[in-house]
Amino acid sequence: MRYESTRGAAPLLGFADTLLTGLAADGGLYLPERWPALEGLPEPAGPYAELATAVMAPFVGDDIDRDELARLVAGAYAGFDHPEVVPLRPLEDGLWLLELFHGPTLAFKDMALQVVGRLLDRELAHRDERATVIVATSGDTGSAAIEACRGRDRLDIVVLHPHGRVSDVQRRQMTTVHDHNVWNLAVEGTFDDCQDLVKALFADAVAREKLRLTAMNSINWARVLAQIPYYVRCAALLGGAGPVDVTVPTGNFGNIYAAWGARSCGAGLGRLVVASNRNDILTRTLETGVMATEEVHATLSPAMDIQVSSNVERLLYELHDRDGTAVAEAMRGFRESGSLRLAPAAWARLRAAFAGERVDDERTLATIAEVYREHSVLIDPHTAVGVAVARTHRSADRPMVVAATAHPAKFPDAVEAATGVSPPVPGRLAAALEAPEHYDVVPADLGSLRAALESRFA
Ligand SMILES: *Cc1c(COP(=O)(O)O)cnc(C)c1O
Repeated sequence: MRYESTRGAAPLLGFADTLLTGLAADGGLYLPERWPALEGLPEPAGPYAELATAVMAPFVGDDIDRDELARLVAGAYAGFDHPEVVPLRPLEDGLWLLELFHGPTLAFKDMALQVVGRLLDRELAHRDERATVIVATSGDTGSAAIEACRGRDRLDIVVLHPHGRVSDVQRRQMTTVHDHNVWNLAVEGTFDDCQDLVKALFADAVAREKLRLTAMNSINWARVLAQIPYYVRCAALLGGAGPVDVTVPTGNFGNIYAAWGARSCGAGLGRLVVASNRNDILTRTLETGVMATEEVHATLSPAMDIQVSSNVERLLYELHDRDGTAVAEAMRGFRESGSLRLAPAAWARLRAAFAGERVDDERTLATIAEVYREHSVLIDPHTAVGVAVARTHRSADRPMVVAATAHPAKFPDAVEAATGVSPPVPGRLAAALEAPEHYDVVPADLGSLRAALESRFA
């Protein structure tokens, strides 16, 4: 299997090179040159790691042998605290929750990062190299990346969070991890400062080389790949007579793009529904055929407070018949003007596969309250956005699955405001709330950050 860039001007790479490269040399994103058909899959109700390995194997090709891939995937999901890893919970007639939050940080990022951390570590060992993962976080991605890298032989991880500007729970999930290869830095600045520092480090070829920097961000193909198997599983479990629709609380478009990938490989999925909060660029694109940025608004579902959803570029490439030149041109215009008008045929294809709807904070809280009142189930605000949208997009004759992307205990304030109930805290989160913290405070200044990193790693 080879991977090509959405902008058509970067070399084709195999899976392992794509993994280490991240962004393509032409500024595009890698995706497989074709979607492999699902074949010879094990029983969907069987062990999740076996199904996930079988779904991922054709994408990995010869770069990792099958037994090693199976061991690695089994390791990734061994620490999940539900025997089915991704249980499907029936909520109400025809509507199911696909629970993606049973991993170490209680949110769906673990589904992919637990696999990607192991893939990176394995590839670096193979090449006898080391790398430093550097991540800027506004809260949740940092802990998922730390859990994915902690204790790995070939990786160090440095996470920059804005000092005093993440919640206590979010900070403690990061700073109570004491493995020798984990370093938390509290930057005296905002999340944007953290992100600018990371970007500046990557742009500095000398620093990048010296510190062997690597990213684990959502544009990495392997992250999308590791999210495809759970859609294959739920389509196989619920499909039977016909296709299954899915609704996905969406920010960077990675999770729902994985559903598109599963569907493209032949999984029995029907309509893919984008659930947006007030930051509704994708829903507006579906409605108008124009992708246009606006300012970012803070909401109760912060993991979806995103203006530009980077993974959309992969879908655009496919909607444009894999014409990299057209995509490169469209993205250049989008960067310059903040707006991109889809060609009529591409817009029609988009609407044939996807639907979308936005949900404001008020309706998010009302949905959390209703679901609790009607079913005695607590859901987090991201999942609630999904449930609200799924209820209006459900068709009578097909199952609808909502991706439940975070555990309610991760967002206790919203859940309590809506229901009056404070969600029970799972043991591993409770432990993080008690343990001693380790982190260093640094100024929001590239020079001092570089010096700190070089004295530790170079
Ligand atoms: C990251 C995240 C999302 C958004 O997923 P994308 O792949 O970025 O669209 C939704 N909910 C939660 C809880 C998340 O952490």
